Amino acid sequence: MVQLRAGSEHCKSDPVRHSLPAALASTVLALACSAPVAFAQTAEPTAVLFENVRVFDGKSDRLSSASNVLVVGNEIKTISVSSIAVPEGVQSITINGGGRTLMPGLIDVHWHAMLVRPTVPQLLTSDIGYLTLAAGAEATATLMRGFTTVRDVGGPAFSLKRAIDEGTVVGPRIFPSGAMITVTSGHGDFRQPFELPRVIGAPRSRGEEVGAAMIADSPDEVRVRVREQLLLGASQIKLTAGGGVASPNSPLDVSTFTSEELRAAVEAAENWGTYVTVHAYTSEAVQRAIAAGVKCIEHGHLMDEATAKLIAKSGVWLSMQPLPPELGEAFPPGSEERRKFEQVLSGTDATYKLAKKYKLKTAFGTDVLFSHAIAQRQTSLLASLTRWYTAAEILRMATGVNAQLLALSGLRSPYVGKLGVVEEGALADLLLVDGNPIENIKLIEDPGRNFVVIMKDGKIYKNALR
Ligand SMILES: [Zn+2]
Repeated sequence: MVQLRAGSEHCKSDPVRHSLPAALASTVLALACSAPVAFAQTAEPTAVLFENVRVFDGKSDRLSSASNVLVVGNEIKTISVSSIAVPEGVQSITINGGGRTLMPGLIDVHWHAMLVRPTVPQLLTSDIGYLTLAAGAEATATLMRGFTTVRDVGGPAFSLKRAIDEGTVVGPRIFPSGAMITVTSGHGDFRQPFELPRVIGAPRSRGEEVGAAMIADSPDEVRVRVREQLLLGASQIKLTAGGGVASPNSPLDVSTFTSEELRAAVEAAENWGTYVTVHAYTSEAVQRAIAAGVKCIEHGHLMDEATAKLIAKSGVWLSMQPLPPELGEAFPPGSEERRKFEQVLSGTDATYKLAKKYKLKTAFGTDVLFSHAIAQRQTSLLASLTRWYTAAEILRMATGVNAQLLALSGLRSPYVGKLGVVEEGALADLLLVDGNPIENIKLIEDPGRNFVVIMKDGKIYKNALR
């Protein structure tokens, strides 16, 4: 019976589809969906009724009056101030909210599921099995912090995502980019000098072997690399269009991909129905990417005012991060990486001010790398946005607004249904918060205590009210 239910859930949210090549996926789906039809019709979906909750819907700047919310299967079925009757014959549980706040699960759109726990030396020396197990543990911790969805912007997260979607590992939904695509000497090229020159037919570098980054040095190579990630199930494509902090041979001021290479990536992604996002700090890198048709800029910490205006005019997304100073501790004091980190950090305030001034479509992410300790502060990083935003703006950004960015993946979205909102018909990714986070945003800083119910895809992963 349990297996049959799992099958019918696959048919609904279709998590397998984008994890596998199409032919194989359709076979799996056929097995999962067609065989148990007669049983699936009699299987009773589980329902959860939240009574007496005040709803933050991911769009508004205030809570609803006391309401009831019925979840059936993986969907929010009914929201009403009147009492809701659970449909007859449906197995259900009722959670008495006691006036607490029901809100959408949080979304982090700049996450690297595979790169959070390992230190830099561990990343470069551990095998993929160890890295994936560590990432699985971190994925569980991520969900238990209230993040029900992450957009992974670089790293070999496909197997982790598949294991989560299949229910083998507990974790958030993942919108994977797969390997970040870079140029020789670009951000993500972790090769040592002795590994050069690269020649055709030579073994792949360590970073390429594990699928963390792929190197491409011509429009044709870029097309191949982009299409490979799409084949693997990428829901969007990530390129590094400028220098980066963590890479050893990548000055911050440089532009990497040529316009032709960027356009090749955009064309390949758009042919597949999705988009390209780029890592870019400087004005030059941002401007060149926008001219090539890139739809989202990651970071932008060192851009000028004219570039912010261009982002506004183009309707491009800015995916920003309130980086904590401690993130720099991943790099030795006095190192070039540490110096670059300080430079990026110094641009955070100006960029958030520009984002507000020009009303940029601004998404929230954390970009936590190489630090289990900082990852535990993921919700505190969100709350730290009070330097620039109201509590309601912050909560909207990490739910309804971030979900709009995810929706750019179109049919390449791995999950069918609406995310980031509490509304009828949306996917049931929900948090029950002990208090009103619009009045007191600090509540989110302690998810262990204050997120008393955590639900993803209609399933309860935590219920402290039992
Ligand atoms: Zn990143």
